[in-house]
Amino acid sequence: TVPVIAVDGPAGVGKGMVTRWLVQRTGFHRLDSGALYRILALAAVAAGVDLDAHAAVAALAPGLQISFTGSSEDDEAILVGGQDWTRELRAETTGALASRIAVSPEVREALLQRQRDFRLAPGLIADGRDMGTVVFPDARLKLFLDASPEERATRRQRQLSKAGIAANFATLCEEIRARDARDRGRAVAPLKPASDAHLIDTTGLSPEAVLARVEALSVA
Ligand code: C5P
Repeated sequence: TVPVIAVDGPAGVGKGMVTRWLVQRTGFHRLDSGALYRILALAAVAAGVDLDAHAAVAALAPGLQISFTGSSEDDEAILVGGQDWTRELRAETTGALASRIAVSPEVREALLQRQRDFRLAPGLIADGRDMGTVVFPDARLKLFLDASPEERATRRQRQLSKAGIAANFATLCEEIRARDARDRGRAVAPLKPASDAHLIDTTGLSPEAVLARVEALSVA
């Protein structure tokens, strides 16, 4: 079977950085599962569908034409129906919309096969919340990254500012806390480490130090 490396953890913890590094190193494909939830939420808003009407939101999933292009943080783009949605997708307000629909079992089910379809040779690096617990329980390596909410808000602020998006620190911190609480507290596929995941607390660690730990685990 095609190998999968699962990279799970809360918002702003550095999953994207770790995932991109693993992709470069292995030449595997990438699944940014959070982007699928974000896209579906924005598509629902665009279609005038109430985000709490979960069945109606889920029904939009099969019709979405999504393509991921580029491979570095700077040249990545996400096209939906041929249109560039990258900037809108990155906004923290979009993350909040995504976490609202992510509580729904119907929505999760509608995106499940779509996520598994990314599992193509030679392998897949998958990042999200439930990659190791639900979507790819047989992943060869499972990483679960964590860090304090303040540190994650700082990283997210830096990342947004690189993309030319200004964000207030206190607001960002509050938004991240609210999103985590919803992701950890939901009944289906709550954010939590798989029993066989390697936990990496990245609080106070530089990106290089995080990658050194990942490297030690991925060669083991
Ligand atoms: O990772 P990202 O911040 O893009 O995810 C946006 C939201 O989508 C998360 O806060 C979570 O509610 C939801 N999500 C999820 N399961 C995943 C990936 C994302 O529930 N595998």
